[in-house]
Amino acid sequence: MKIAKKILGVKPSATLTITAKAKAMKASGEDVIVLAAGEPAHDTPDIIKDAAIKAITDGFTKYTPAAGTASLKEAICCKLKNDNGLDYDASEVVVSNGAKHSLFNVLQVIVEEGDEVIVVHPYWVSYPEMIKLAGGQPKIITTSISNGFKLRPQELKSAINENTRAIIINSPSNPAGVVYDQKELEELAKVCVENNITIISDEIYEKIIFEGKAHFSIAAVSEGAKAVTIVVNGLSKSHSMTGWRIGYMAGDKEVAKMVSTLQGQSTSNPCSISQVAAECALRGNMEEDFSRNCEGFQERRDFLMGTLSQEERIVPLKPEGAFYLFCDISKCGLDSLTFAKKLLEEKKVAVIPGGPFGDDRYIRISFASDMETIEEGVNRIKDWVGH
Ligand code: PMP
Ligand code: GLU
Repeated sequence: MKIAKKILGVKPSATLTITAKAKAMKASGEDVIVLAAGEPAHDTPDIIKDAAIKAITDGFTKYTPAAGTASLKEAICCKLKNDNGLDYDASEVVVSNGAKHSLFNVLQVIVEEGDEVIVVHPYWVSYPEMIKLAGGQPKIITTSISNGFKLRPQELKSAINENTRAIIINSPSNPAGVVYDQKELEELAKVCVENNITIISDEIYEKIIFEGKAHFSIAAVSEGAKAVTIVVNGLSKSHSMTGWRIGYMAGDKEVAKMVSTLQGQSTSNPCSISQVAAECALRGNMEEDFSRNCEGFQERRDFLMGTLSQEERIVPLKPEGAFYLFCDISKCGLDSLTFAKKLLEEKKVAVIPGGPFGDDRYIRISFASDMETIEEGVNRIKDWVGH
C-alpha cells in the first residue's frame, strides 16, 4: 500500500527497536544481557499498583476528560510547586500517554512548516523525528566533549535565525547524563527570552541525579523564562512506570488548550487506571524511594566507570544524572552501529549505538538494569574489546 511521504522519512526509534529485539532474544532462551533499555529494572512500587487495582475494582474504567482528570492535574500542579517552585493553574496542564506523547503534541501545536527547532547534540533519538513530523527542521548544535557536551550561550546565539521557533533542553540528559546548573540555565534562558524562542524543557530524568547535584527547572529561573517555557515531565523514570504511559506538559494556557484539542481528536484521555496510579505516585511521599534509587544507580554507574577505566579503548563520560553511560569507542576502529551489532552477535550484549543520538563515535550503555546483569555485561564487553 502507498505510504504517505510525511512518514516515510521518519526513522524507527533505535532505543525501542534494539531493546525490543534484545528482550525477544532473551525471551526465546538466548543468553542476552540487555544494557539497552532506558527503564529502571525495579518494579513499580506496590502502593501505586494497589491504587490502580482499586481503580479497576471501583469501576474507574471509563473515559476521562481528554487532558486528564481534574484531580491528577491538581496533583501535577502541587508537584510542580513543591519540587520546582513553579506555579501553574490546572488549565495550563495536559496529561498524555507518556512524556514522549507530550513532546510530540507540543511540537505539533507550536511548530509551523519550515520552523527550526534547536536540538543539542548528543540528543535523545526521538527529538529530530518528532520535529520533522511536526513539519519543522531540527537544527542540531554540536557540543564539545571538552565542555562536557554542554551547550554554551554563545553557541545558542549563533544558531538562532529568523526561522528559529524553539529549543529542546533536556537536563539531566539522555544519552550523556548532562546536568545544567541554575546559572547555566539562567544564561541560556536569557538568550531564549531575548529572542522570543520557546523552550521545551524535558525533565523526565529529574529524579535521577547524582552526588548531591540538584535538578533545576529552566522555567524557574525567572518569570520571563517561565512565560516562554513548556515543561515536560512524566512518571516513567521517577516511579518506574514506563509501561503505564503517563506524562504531562505544563505551560502557556493557549498551548495547553490546543494540546488538549489535539488529544481530543486523536488519542482521547490517557488510560484512566494509569491516571489514578499516577495521582497516587505524585501525592505519595516517595522521597525515600528517590534517594534509594539514586544511590543504587550511582553505585552501578561508579562500578561501570571503574571497570571500564581499565579498558583504554572505551572511554566513558561520567554522567551527572539519568542512567546511561555514553562511551567513546572510536579507538576500537568501528562505527557505532557495527560495534553494537557485533557486540550483540558475538557476545550477546545489547547496547545502543551513538549514531541515532547524533554521535557515531559513541555507544550508550544503560545502567538501569540490576547489578548482576551489569557485571556480566561489562565483563563480556571488556573481554570482547580486549581481543
Ligand atoms: N525524554 C527522554 C529524554 C527520554 O529518554 C524518554 C524515554 N523514556 C522520554 C522523554 C519519554 O518517556 P516516556 O514517554 O516513557 O514518559
Ligand atoms: N527513553 C528511553 C531510552 O532512551 C526508552 C525508550 C524510548 O522511549 O526511546 O532508552
